[in-house]
Amino acid sequence: MKPGQQTKCSHCGKECFLVKKTLMDGWTKLGDILACSCCSAKIADLDGEKTKTVDTTKKFSALEDLLAEKKKEGPKIESSEDEKHFCRDCMHFVSHPFLNRCGLHKKNVGPMDDCDKFEKK
Ligand SMILES: [Zn+2]
Repeated sequence: MKPGQQTKCSHCGKECFLVKKTLMDGWTKLGDILACSCCSAKIADLDGEKTKTVDTTKKFSALEDLLAEKKKEGPKIESSEDEKHFCRDCMHFVSHPFLNRCGLHKKNVGPMDDCDKFEKK
């Protein structure tokens, strides 16, 4: 059996053509089937596509791994470049026993404060 072939559908009983359909489970390709052009019911598995199906699945999972890894790396970069702009890590931060001052702005600051003039010490 192959796509375009005329057949009598066992589901709806009509004379119809076989159409290729791809079964998907989310982003995972389950395989190709031959379906009725009238009622879309599955008539047969599509042979000769099995190796291709495996390759596609592999490509998909490789892509998913890549995306998952990028997701993992994303927050790490952000936390080292964006989130740690606390005054206590700034070169202008002057620590005293009772108060902390910013040497740049000449004002009292807290260790967890941040500002746009942050420079890593
Ligand atoms: Zn049918």
